[in-house]
Amino acid sequence: YEAKKTQRGLQLFNHEINESFQRKVVLEYELRKALEKKQLSVYFQPQLNIQSGAVLGMEALVRWQHEQLGFISPGEFIPIAEENGLICQIGEWVLREVSHHISLWQTEGLQVPSIAINISPREFINVGFVNTIQSIIKETAMNASNFVFEITESIGIDQLDGVIKKLNALKEIGIQVAIDDFGKGYSSLNYLKHLPIDILKIDKSFIDGINDDVNDYVIARAMIQVAHGMGMKVIAEGVETASQIEKLKQLECDIMQGFLISKPLPADLAASFLRNNDRMLH
Ligand code: C2E
Ligand code: MG
Ligand code: MG
Ligand code: MG
Repeated sequence: YEAKKTQRGLQLFNHEINESFQRKVVLEYELRKALEKKQLSVYFQPQLNIQSGAVLGMEALVRWQHEQLGFISPGEFIPIAEENGLICQIGEWVLREVSHHISLWQTEGLQVPSIAINISPREFINVGFVNTIQSIIKETAMNASNFVFEITESIGIDQLDGVIKKLNALKEIGIQVAIDDFGKGYSSLNYLKHLPIDILKIDKSFIDGINDDVNDYVIARAMIQVAHGMGMKVIAEGVETASQIEKLKQLECDIMQGFLISKPLPADLAASFLRNNDRMLH
């Protein structure tokens, strides 16, 4: 009986693997057509000055809406796109799409804050990466200072020299650099020491526990101190409660982003958010 039970368990297990494998195959196939079929869009999540409430930036987050499969989260399809290289096309599309919205908003007379764009390691390591970015910015008549590029530590500590060169090239153009999800992976102080980073984003996992877990609290505090000591600004990501804001204020964190302030918004609602914010401050 036990053997049978195990076998049945294995069958279920195999069945699950098969299903998730099949879904991956389907998603990969469908993702290749998603751009053409205009199934992708960009949402924007506001980033606020913790003290004044002014909008200092917005993070661009890609969304995929499929006719049959419905909404597919970036957490699921970005890794697939990274694996098969589609992320490069998607990344270029995101930059163009963001530029398009920035110019629409500026034409409307809105104060557009800097827009943060997530850059995958796979895009970043391309030899032509900086040139591609430069030509898109030129082509879309953007100001490079409109953009912050968010990278993660997975960008490759083993080729530190190459990474530093590329980041410096971006900074020369006028693009700011943020390190995303800091503290989550093999984050190393070595990164902060060597990379020309303007903004440190504390990973949500530390913000989650900032009030109840002493370890999260002291780690967040230390990150803010180190970042400030090195002349960086600090963003807390995933802020969900008012008491988290209180703690972050005490710790002199600079910028907050999270569902409590706003979920990521489609472009039209992001514009409304900017409009209201303009009104509030004047
Ligand atoms: P990320 O860059 O760390 O983005 C933050 C994620 O946290 C977003 O998830 C956002 O919706 C979510 N978030 C923000 N505030 C809160 C909060 O208060 N509570 C909770 N529970 N979540 C919050 P999203 O949009 O699903 O994106 C997931 C990841 O996918 C991103 O993590 C980023 O790594 C990647 N991604 C998204 N868009 C792009 C893109 O255009 N290019 C690349 N390369 N990666 C992207
Ligand atoms: Mg990000
Ligand atoms: Mg993040
Ligand atoms: Mg994250």
